[in-house]
Amino acid sequence: MKYISTRGNAEALTFEDVLLTGLASDGGLYVPESLPRFTLEEIESWRGLSYAKLAFNVMYPFVEGSIPEDEFRTMIEDTYAGFAHNAVAPLTQLDANEWVMELFHGPTLAFKDFALQLLGRLLDYVLTKRNQRAVILGATSGDTGSAAIEGCRRCKNVDIFILHPYQRVSDVQRKQMTTITGDNIHNIAVKGNFDDCQSMVKASFNDQSFLSGKTSLVAVNSINWARIMAQIVYYFSASLALGGPHRSISFSVPTGNFGDIFAGYLARNMGLPINQLVIATNRNDILHRFMSQNRYEVEALEHTLSPSMDIMVSSNFERLLFDLYGRDGQALQGVMDAFKQGSASIDDHRWKNARVLFDSYTVDDEQTCATIKQVFEETEELLDPHTAIGVKSARECRRDAQVPMVTLGTAHPVKFPEAVEKSGVGVAPELPHHMADLFDREERYTVLENDLAAVQAFVQENMNA
Ligand SMILES: *Cc1c(COP(=O)(O)O)cnc(C)c1O
Repeated sequence: MKYISTRGNAEALTFEDVLLTGLASDGGLYVPESLPRFTLEEIESWRGLSYAKLAFNVMYPFVEGSIPEDEFRTMIEDTYAGFAHNAVAPLTQLDANEWVMELFHGPTLAFKDFALQLLGRLLDYVLTKRNQRAVILGATSGDTGSAAIEGCRRCKNVDIFILHPYQRVSDVQRKQMTTITGDNIHNIAVKGNFDDCQSMVKASFNDQSFLSGKTSLVAVNSINWARIMAQIVYYFSASLALGGPHRSISFSVPTGNFGDIFAGYLARNMGLPINQLVIATNRNDILHRFMSQNRYEVEALEHTLSPSMDIMVSSNFERLLFDLYGRDGQALQGVMDAFKQGSASIDDHRWKNARVLFDSYTVDDEQTCATIKQVFEETEELLDPHTAIGVKSARECRRDAQVPMVTLGTAHPVKFPEAVEKSGVGVAPELPHHMADLFDREERYTVLENDLAAVQAFVQENMNA
């Protein structure tokens, strides 16, 4: 399988190379040159398989040619054996034909574990084979950092540097990152905000001359294709559990960077019958504004009770726009240029085309809390604020009550106690058993000034190249 850039002006790469890259050299994102397509009979034959076996069937075509079958099978088995629920991605029913898929049984209690646990193993395999080292450099406002560290901590050839804004992540989120210790793990608390961290990471990727030797930077945010790939699997898993593929399913996806929902879109293009995909956003609603008004425009960041969706731009949206433009990189470059100047809109027929499958909705903090409370009263299920936004959006946007609606449960409520408390349900979410001692574990992190040179010097001094 080859991967091409959405801007049409960079060389095509193999899976191995795409795994070790960030953005393409032309500024685009990598996507598969073509998608594998499965027949209904094929998908039907996977009913009853374990999550890991299903994952192998769905993902193998993407890595074929780079990773031998047996190796890949073992990596996947190991990855999902580390989840705290046998079903890996179990469904919980909220109402007639309404479900939440619990994607928070991984080691850091958010869906990002599905991809990052696998990414760590993939990196280890590829770097060992090539006898090469890599530096993971990432910025996090919470969930990505801990999932990346958990996923890559055992990689012998990788040094991990994760920047988080000093004193601006929740206690649980910080503890999840800083209590994982190892020679190759470096948590950096930057005296600035998340955007400052993000800009330093971007600048470092653009000019990697501060690194010595042939070490290169690896991206762990969702511009990394391997992350999207791993997220396709659970759409198949939910569908098969609910009577698919001979029955269509709808999904509502709490959305920030558009990585998770883009995986659902790909599942559909690979042959899985999906009726509707709901883009659920908080007040940072660039995607909802695009879907409802065909206006793609940055607005100021708002801090909400669902911080993992606090974004101004959804980087993976470019991957969808690429398809909407008939995979014409040149045309897409034009749209992205207009966007950079302040505002873009796309041809009316392309925009309408997007709306055939996608709906969107935006939920503010007050509605988020009201939904947590309502669902708790209806079912005694405690939702995290991101998942609550998904459920609310699903209920508002649903097209057909006969079609099962599945909201992706993206995080465990214990990660976001503030929203749960504000909702007034009167119970506090508890840490699952395997993390019960989190607050007793020792923390290790370094506080640095909001200064690119200081951060790069720290990386240079502490990497094991
Ligand atoms: C990362 C994250 C999201 C957003 O996912 P995207 O792939 O960026 O759209 C939603 N909810 C939680 C809890 C997250 O950690």
